[in-house]
Amino acid sequence: MKIDFANLQKQHQLYKEEIEVAVLDVMHQCNFIMGEPIKTLEANLQNFTGAKHAITCSSGTDALLLAMMALDIEPGDEIITTPFTFIATAETIAFLKAKPVFVDIDEKTYNIDPTKIEAKITNKTKAIMPVSLYGQPTDMDAIQTIADKHNLKVIIDGAQSFGSTYKGQTDSNLGDISTTSFFPAKPLGCYGDGGAVFTNDEALADKMRSLRVHGQSKRYHHQYIGMGGRLDTIQAAVLNVKLKYYAKDFKRREEVAVKYTQALQDKTLTLPTVAENTTSVWAQYSIRVKNRDTVQLKLKEKGIPTAVHYPMPLHLQECFGYLGYHKGDFPISEIVSKEIMSLPMNPYLTDDEIAYICHYL
Ligand SMILES: *Cc1c(COP(=O)(O)O)cnc(C)c1O
Repeated sequence: MKIDFANLQKQHQLYKEEIEVAVLDVMHQCNFIMGEPIKTLEANLQNFTGAKHAITCSSGTDALLLAMMALDIEPGDEIITTPFTFIATAETIAFLKAKPVFVDIDEKTYNIDPTKIEAKITNKTKAIMPVSLYGQPTDMDAIQTIADKHNLKVIIDGAQSFGSTYKGQTDSNLGDISTTSFFPAKPLGCYGDGGAVFTNDEALADKMRSLRVHGQSKRYHHQYIGMGGRLDTIQAAVLNVKLKYYAKDFKRREEVAVKYTQALQDKTLTLPTVAENTTSVWAQYSIRVKNRDTVQLKLKEKGIPTAVHYPMPLHLQECFGYLGYHKGDFPISEIVSKEIMSLPMNPYLTDDEIAYICHYL
């Protein structure tokens, strides 16, 4: 058997008639920049998430920049986040010359541990940036309570979690600003780079709409230092089609996750945990194994691809050497990054494929 990790091919085959019509329509109209499909997509995203404002942008990375720029994050400001995430989370903080301040993760969910946040708050702290890792929101009540108490903003890096919920709300509808990514391999992917920011605050929404187009208030009048951060109309056209089927897709991802968990129950592996009151969109199904290299190699020989999200926590990355962290500072992130391994995850895995994968674990 030869198993596909994310199976973008299969997804394209399923929706290609509609997607190709939508993309060709943009080409025929030549409305490549901020065409009608962008407006339609933003309305569709608002509908789907419940957030009052959805503003599309060029990537999940740029979404984080837009969020922090809108909140006036300045050089020297501190933002508390997790070291167990994709580089973009902390990289964008550092890019704005603010300082990422790391807090270790919860051993079960792999998300930032809210009980460890308060100890890291200083008079420079401006925001908390939880990441909904693998598609699962953090304990947002705990985070919001701390933020309210210390007058901090909350920016959710929801790059992996579009459509996930915490106490019935999508994580796009929580915090001051929430972001997502439409990178092809994310749960809702487009056909290139793309992202969005979400907020219920009208002033922040207006500011982010302006920041995404060079901070302009009207054409060639620039109120803020902004960026070129628009989503392409073609990508919006793709997403408008895919969003129609997204709920069905992530329901199936959930079924795949349940099947994995049932089949792997009795093995000596650490399986993923979804916290109470929370739903995951299963960006990844990640397990922990002691002898990861051996297991990955064995699976590879059987045609089963795996991936590691992520092999090195951010406090140990060369680029963050200047922050002065050391090995041992965040022991849970460090041990999890040595043992974590993601199994193939997509809505098209068959029961036979799942059984085949689990047999070799
Ligand atoms: C993918 C990802 C990003 C960046 O999104 P891009 O669209 O690739 O720029 C940011 N944060 C996390 C947690 C991610 O997984």
